[in-house]
Amino acid sequence: MRHNIVELKHISKSWGSVKALNTVNLDVRKGEILTLLGPSGCGKSTLMRITAGFETPTSGTVVIAGQDVTQMPPEKRPVNMVFQRYALFPHLDVFDNVAFGLRLKGLPKAEINAQVSAMLKLVQLESLSGRWINEISGGESQRVALARALVNRPSVLLLDEPLAALDLKIRHIMLEELKRIHTETGTTFIYVTHDQDEAMILSDRVVLMNKGAIEQIGTPDEMYGAPKTLFCAKFFGETNILGGHVKSADAKGAVLNLPIGEIEAPVGGLRSGSDIHVSLRPEAASLTEARAGKPGRHDAVPGIVEDVVFIGSRVVYKVRHASGTVLKCQEPRTAAGIRFGVGSHVSLQYDPAAIVVLSG
Ligand code: ADP
Ligand code: MG
Repeated sequence: MRHNIVELKHISKSWGSVKALNTVNLDVRKGEILTLLGPSGCGKSTLMRITAGFETPTSGTVVIAGQDVTQMPPEKRPVNMVFQRYALFPHLDVFDNVAFGLRLKGLPKAEINAQVSAMLKLVQLESLSGRWINEISGGESQRVALARALVNRPSVLLLDEPLAALDLKIRHIMLEELKRIHTETGTTFIYVTHDQDEAMILSDRVVLMNKGAIEQIGTPDEMYGAPKTLFCAKFFGETNILGGHVKSADAKGAVLNLPIGEIEAPVGGLRSGSDIHVSLRPEAASLTEARAGKPGRHDAVPGIVEDVVFIGSRVVYKVRHASGTVLKCQEPRTAAGIRFGVGSHVSLQYDPAAIVVLSG
């Protein structure tokens, strides 16, 4: 059995002087939810449209299910696309919108009825089957768009920011729904978003894009916990980024010279004297009270609490080091409540495994 359902090879795309994609190589595994994530304008939609066949690449090859489809028109490819704007037919009801593709294929009426009913059940819209498109909500419209795409049984479903027009609460419900529908159909999903939370919730793997190229590919956990570049570290969740240099290094670890002092990191392969950035996640430090005359561990970072923000289950402290650097630290709220007030002297102990060194 083939492992990759889609293979994008050396894909570049330019319009005049605008280079939208620059030598993108990407394999999509059969059955996964893969997310293309990145800021507006980085080339996500262009890559999707090339995969779907709405654009041809300036150079490179698109292979779907083992076949070179680079020159094949969209309707011949085993893919379907769902857009941010649902593009439903306003003069048809919900049922007929979903049935449209099957009628074009000339399937028998009984077959169409059975397949459309099954799809409306899958997206939980059976009761709205006879409604007009202008009589349903945004979330319901997007379910119709999903059903209309999935009824064609595509090998790959392409979803380009399908939830962007919906409000936050409906978006979260729809994300859960998309996961369920993915599990029930087993279809490969390629999902585009600029929202890292959506990508984290939904994806088996995330492809982070930056200026027309792939920055990093990994599971949500890898992207969050082991970013390789500054861009990736900043894109996923909150973090403290500090610039510094490598004081000394060997194969197993390094001593890093940072504004908050020297820190040992169990990261091999760094070059002594080189400039680096470090990402310290807010949850990577444990806070203890700093007592006068009791210096604590040599690698602890001393500071003064400057601000305390209570966010339900979490407490976020902003701690100012003597150098002026402010570090965000976060811990779960315990039964004891908020442990430190503004002005408290604290000591931050970073978990060495959570110190992420980024080159450059
Ligand atoms: P994203 O979906 O990540 O926001 P796009 O793929 O839509 O980004 O666009 C990538 C780049 O290509 C942008 O600079 C955009 O302006 C440009 N672009 C997209 N489509 C066209 C087009 N038809 N003609 C010219 N430039 C385009
Ligand atoms: Mg786009």
